[in-house]
Amino acid sequence: MWPFNSSNGRCSRCRVDGISGVLLSQFPNLVLKRNLKFGEMWRCQKCETPWFLTSNRQWIHRIGLEFKPLVAHWNETALDLTLLCLRAATGIGGVRNDWEETVILPCAVTTKNGERFEKAILQVTKTPPYRWYSLEKVRWAWEIAELEGSRFTLPLQVRRASHEKREEAMGFAPTDVQSNDGRSFTLGNASDFFEHEGVTGPNIQLAPRPRKRNVVPFAETQAWFWVDWNDDLVEKITTSAEM
Ligand SMILES: [Zn+2]
Repeated sequence: MWPFNSSNGRCSRCRVDGISGVLLSQFPNLVLKRNLKFGEMWRCQKCETPWFLTSNRQWIHRIGLEFKPLVAHWNETALDLTLLCLRAATGIGGVRNDWEETVILPCAVTTKNGERFEKAILQVTKTPPYRWYSLEKVRWAWEIAELEGSRFTLPLQVRRASHEKREEAMGFAPTDVQSNDGRSFTLGNASDFFEHEGVTGPNIQLAPRPRKRNVVPFAETQAWFWVDWNDDLVEKITTSAEM
C-alpha cells in the first residue's frame, strides 16, 4: 500500500513508483547520484526525488521519503548472518527470486533486545527497504540473537509453488493445499506461513484444485530481517533444504 496521498513536492515525472530499466533513457531528469552497496542511487534534477536502480538494472524505483534513513543504514551496514543463524536457515530453506534478487526465508527470531517474532522473514537481498513495508517491520540481520524454525512455516515445496504462482486475477494467485487431516484450503497469494482453523504450516501439503475453493486469510509477517545477498549464502539456503 503506497503511504503517500499527496505528491509531496514531486515533479510530474516522479509521481510513478517504478520505471522499467529499459525506459530509463526516456527520463533525462533522472541522473546517477552514487553507487550503493548493491545498485545505484539516482536523483531527479527537477525535484530532488531519490530513486533506486536495482543491481540487475531491471527497475528503477522511487524511494519513499520515510525510507531514506533505512536505505542509508542498509547501505552503510554489513548485514551478515552468524554461523549459527546460517546453519538454522540452511535447514529451513528459502525461496529464490532472481528477478527480485531476493531470497525469502521464514523463521522465528529472538532479537538482542529480547523481542520474539514467531512469523519473521529473512529477506536476503540486493535491494534496500525503500517502500511498501511498514517501517516498524523492517529489521536488520545484526539485531538477530537467535534464529529457529517457526511452527507456522509452510513446507518448502508449498512455499515455492505459491511464490511461483502467477496471478489469475488482480492480486489473486491461488495455490490449492490440504491439511494432513484432509481439509482443503487455498492460499490467495505468495505464502510462507499458515495458521488457520487450528492447522499450522507443517501440516499443509499441495493438493489438486477442489470443486469449491476455501481461501484462507493471509498469515501476516511480523518482521522482515534484511540480510545482504552473497552467492555462497544464497546457494546454501536455497539448495540444502531440498529433500
Ligand atoms: Zn522529479
